[in-house]
This record gives sequence, structure tokens and C-alpha cells, in this order.
Amino acid sequence: MAFKPANNIQDLQYFGEFGGVNPSISDSSTYTFLSAKTMFDTFEGNADGCYLYSRHSSPSNLYLGEALAAMEGTETANVTASGMGAITPVIMQLCGSGDHVVSSRTIYGGTYAFLKNFTPRFNIETSFVDITKLDVVEAAITKNTKVLYCESVSNPLLEVADIEGLSKIAKKHNLKLVVDNTFSPLSISPAKLGADVVIHSLTKFINGSSDTVGGVVCGTQEFINDLRNVNDGACMLLGSTMDSLRSASVLKNLRTLHIRMQQHSKNASYLAEKFENDGLKTVYPGLKSHPSHELFKSMMNKQYGFGGMLTIDVGSLDKANELMEMMQEKNLGYLAVSLGFYKTLFSAPGSSTSSEIPEDEQEEMGLSDGLIRFSIGLDADIERTYNMMRECMEKLSIEIN
Ligand code: PLP
Repeated sequence: MAFKPANNIQDLQYFGEFGGVNPSISDSSTYTFLSAKTMFDTFEGNADGCYLYSRHSSPSNLYLGEALAAMEGTETANVTASGMGAITPVIMQLCGSGDHVVSSRTIYGGTYAFLKNFTPRFNIETSFVDITKLDVVEAAITKNTKVLYCESVSNPLLEVADIEGLSKIAKKHNLKLVVDNTFSPLSISPAKLGADVVIHSLTKFINGSSDTVGGVVCGTQEFINDLRNVNDGACMLLGSTMDSLRSASVLKNLRTLHIRMQQHSKNASYLAEKFENDGLKTVYPGLKSHPSHELFKSMMNKQYGFGGMLTIDVGSLDKANELMEMMQEKNLGYLAVSLGFYKTLFSAPGSSTSSEIPEDEQEEMGLSDGLIRFSIGLDADIERTYNMMRECMEKLSIEIN
């Protein structure tokens, strides 16, 4: 039977303390115990249903975690203060000194910087590879490799990972496949395709209102317990905990994610087709010209579409900057990093979200100067948006048909 992530969210039922239709927010950092023995047992992880201290867990964080685990089809989940606050403890939990990571070379700049510049301090090395080539991925594995890391749809080049293929390799070599699914919530369900750990930056589509940072790790009960362990759990000890007030507000936004993703996908798909017809170099997984279009189709939960992210190349950074400034002036969106907002957001990744990647490496992976990354908004009238964007391009003499 097809996996129905939005049904899984909707089927959860929560009530507040006084019968409220939303769960009560646990506005406490610490919790009392009626007996000292129960407090001791809770420390030892043996008192189910008891709360100790909110860095470890809180009722509000557990509600949000439960909803996100239902969405991804994993046993459970742990919410964190940011996407990076989810990614970094996962790597640190799975790897120790001497271990090795095989990672996609096209990933969010912060994750790239963490693996390239930060983890070597702990003697954890990473090989960055073209994730779309399974033979290259397998060849990079050494006897010390512990983790295979990728994004289902990569930032910013929108490369698509063959999660089932990667999962086979991971199983064969006894590695954990960790997938960041930030760009494709609901559309792709990595755990159902064999990922061991699924991560999101909740900052983006899932929260959807660009008013907070947040993250989540979805996985087995055993792995999430390990992350929360008071003695050696990376989430517990590195301390990137989400605040209860915030997890309550993210949970409320999560309930409209299915409707928002459908509209993001519909609008992005419309613009991508128009831009491509205009002769602009356009990358969108929903276009037949995308090298992994068929792969995406084979993995996707169809009703959510190919997502809200697309890129175009307008030839040079100067042209890209001029176009973005003009589009902002016309109120077609904002010149801003991040994604998943109701307004369209655009940025030139080479000089912003991927600036941590050295220029020669950017060139090698196809990250060109004139590339603009769009997170397409929820515009009610996308035809009008397109016509106005086209006018901007004509004014700036960008070559279009
Ligand atoms: N993963 C991806 C794919 C991202 O685009 C980002 C942020 O841009 C992150 C992770 C990091 O998330 P956060 O900013 O919430 O720490």
C-alpha cells in the first residue's frame, strides 16, 4: 500500500489539559518527582512517561517529534533547536576518532563546512563524491567508513539521490544512511526507501513561516534514545534543544504542510516549464530534462509534486544580482536565503548559502556564477508572477525567446 505521510500526521489526536484542541504547552524546564527513587530511575532511563529536565525531553517536544516521525514513517524522532542542531549531533553520535564519512559533494554549505573543516579536528574525515554515481559512492567507502550522507534533493543544485540504491550499498558495508530531506518533505519519504536516519531543517517548508529555526532527527527508538542518553548522547550533551513554546507553534504549522507543498509544487512546476520554454537554463526535478526526473518520479508520493525549489542560470553574477534586485523591487519575492516561505525567496548560492564551498570546487560541481536559486512561494496567481518576472528579464536584456 502507498505510504500516506499527511494521513499519518492527521490521524494523530491531541488534547490539551482542559480539553483544548491543541496540546498544552509545557512551560517548564524541570519537573518534580513524588519519590526520589523515580527520579533516580528516570536518570537511568527506566521510568517511562516521566519528565526530568527539558534539555532531555519535554511533552511539547515529544508531541512535535511524534508528528514528524509519523510523517517520515520512523519509530520516533527528536526535535532540535535548528537543522544544524540535528545534523551535527547525528554525525558526532555515529562517528568517533578515526572514522570516515562518505558524503554527497552537493549539500547545504553549513553541513559541507562542518564535515570539511570541523569534524577533522576530531579525526573524522569525509570524502565528498558525486552522489548520483553509485559506483563512485561505493568506491569511496573504506574500512573506517561509518556514514553515508546525502540530501534527497540537494542544495543548491537539486541533484536527486537514489535512496534505495544508496541504502543497498549502506547495508552491504554496514553503514548508516543519513538523509537530509529538507527540500522535499512529504514528496519523498527516505525512511520508506531505506534511509536509517532522516533529518530536516524545520526552518524551511515544514514550519513555513520563516519565523524560527528548528530541526528534527527521525529514526529508530534505539538511535533516538542514544542521542538523548544523559551519559553520552550527542543531543543531550551538545544541547541543541528546541524550546517548548516553539515546538508548539511548529506543530500547528505542520498541519497545513500538505496543502502548502501542493501549492509550492504547482507554482514551481508552472514557472520551471515557462522558464525552460523561454530558453533559460532551468533545473527542476519535475522537468523531463532533469537528469533524475524519472528517479524522482519513482520515489515520490505523487500528490505533493516535485517540490518548490528551482534554479535558473542567467549567465553572470552581475546579471543575477540585477534581476534579483529588480524582482524584489516589483514585490515578486525577497532577496533572501532560506526557503519554504509564502513569498518567493531568491539568492545566488555561490555567494551566499554555498559560499563555504571554495570557488574551484563550486565550479567542479557545476555551481555557476549566474545561478539563482528560487524557493517558489504560494502565489495565488502564478501566471501574473511569471509575466512580471519576464518583464524584468526583458528590461535587463537577459536572453530569452
Ligand atoms: N539542510 C539544508 C538542506 C538546508 O538548506 C539548511 C539551511 O539552509 C540546513 C540543513 C540547516 O538548517 P538550519 O538553518 O535550520 O540550521
